[in-house]
Amino acid sequence: MNSTISAISTPNAAGGIGIVRLSGENACEIADKIFFSSSKKTLKNANGYTAHFGKILDNHQTIDQAIAVVYKSPKSYTGEDVVELQCHGGLFVLQQVLRLTLENGARLAEAGEFTKRAFLNGKMDLTSAESVMKIIGAKGKEAANAAIQTLEGSLTNEINEIKSSLVNSSATLSAWIDYPDEEIEELQSDVLINILKTSKKKLENLINKFDAGQAITEGINTVIVGKPNVGKSTLMNLLLQKNRSIVTDIAGTTRDIVEETARVGNVILHISDTAGIHESNDYVESIGIEYAKNKLSTATLFLAVFDGSKKLDEEDYKILELCKNKCGIAILNKADIGKIISENEIYSYIKNVISLSAKENDSLKTISNAIENVLGTNNFDSTAAMLSNERQLNCCKTALSCINEAIDGLEIGITLDAINVSIDAAISPLLELTGERVSEAVVNEIFSKFCVGK
Ligand code: GDP
Repeated sequence: MNSTISAISTPNAAGGIGIVRLSGENACEIADKIFFSSSKKTLKNANGYTAHFGKILDNHQTIDQAIAVVYKSPKSYTGEDVVELQCHGGLFVLQQVLRLTLENGARLAEAGEFTKRAFLNGKMDLTSAESVMKIIGAKGKEAANAAIQTLEGSLTNEINEIKSSLVNSSATLSAWIDYPDEEIEELQSDVLINILKTSKKKLENLINKFDAGQAITEGINTVIVGKPNVGKSTLMNLLLQKNRSIVTDIAGTTRDIVEETARVGNVILHISDTAGIHESNDYVESIGIEYAKNKLSTATLFLAVFDGSKKLDEEDYKILELCKNKCGIAILNKADIGKIISENEIYSYIKNVISLSAKENDSLKTISNAIENVLGTNNFDSTAAMLSNERQLNCCKTALSCINEAIDGLEIGITLDAINVSIDAAISPLLELTGERVSEAVVNEIFSKFCVGK
């Protein structure tokens, strides 16, 4: 039997209403020991989906007036009996009510335990459970929209389609291999290749959209690089639409890394404005430079700034070299005072080049268009199925590599039983993605990131 859990489900702050939630076989009995309805009816005898006005008492002393909402198994969020005690939203009152539930037989819920129970009781699959935290943490319309779509099954449906075509192929192959005497029609290799290629395309589509999805919903690590005095801090301020970085004409003013989050177009950027990357004898500054190089190596997007009104010098070329083969944009700044550098000089290092003046507010549009282009978010459909975390991404990547193995094998004529091993290996990570076959450790890891009370 699962123990009955209890937690404050509303934020840890004063509010109009605060909720203590109980879930488990004894939820009603425990609530009946502390909550007394005006109608004298017990919650144990109440129907599901009913609300009851009454008092919460501690040894005959009134702690609060409250409404108890009752849900009966299996028709509840967790699939178990659930009671929500809706109190006045004072923290002290809620803590008293929580204490009473614990003293009367409930156990304090662990982080995410309500949702974990919903998953374990089959109320939702793992991708939907993960989307619950995304809804809570959504920072904008697109992020909330994407999370709701996942909760409603957009990703699960897409994965289930891929999975069922692989399972069907594997079942036919197994029958043909295992029962050679039965008259089971052999699956033609060109038919099988087509099925596998369709699955491959669907997985590639999900994988390729991952970075764009992350940029829109979670934000991506972005670094601004460039030698001193080219306008990095001015650009940072333009992106943030405020004066956060210190702008001076003394080279090397930004010594440490300034980190901020900005919404630029439909993308969220977690931006580091670095000390100018250049050779320096100044010890403090050179620490900053090393840090900047590290940031560049780990950032998803770079914005490399150059003073477009001056010729590229040796230090600019060092920066261009560092940016080669990475995802980002070269910004030829100070266009208002002339443009000497041509895009052609940059293209062999960085494919995306724009020219602007970071001092002018209109430049924000130029840079946000360029960022949306580079990240592929300009036509992003947040209602379509999308992967929302690294776990899901890795499951798809593993499945894709097994499908590729099967396709390659078929093309060079490897035996069908060997192909079937690769197809089975592709199904496994998809079952893990939806949570149909997932280790306890992975489940625990996922829900440990939730907040208590959810
Ligand atoms: P950083 O050292 O790269 O961070 O450069 P800053 O942002 O501190 O700018 C250095 C100097 O260049 C300051 O005097 C800025 O006002 C100036 N500056 C920055 N952007 C522009 C621009 O687009 N046009 C002009 N004319 N000056 C700029």
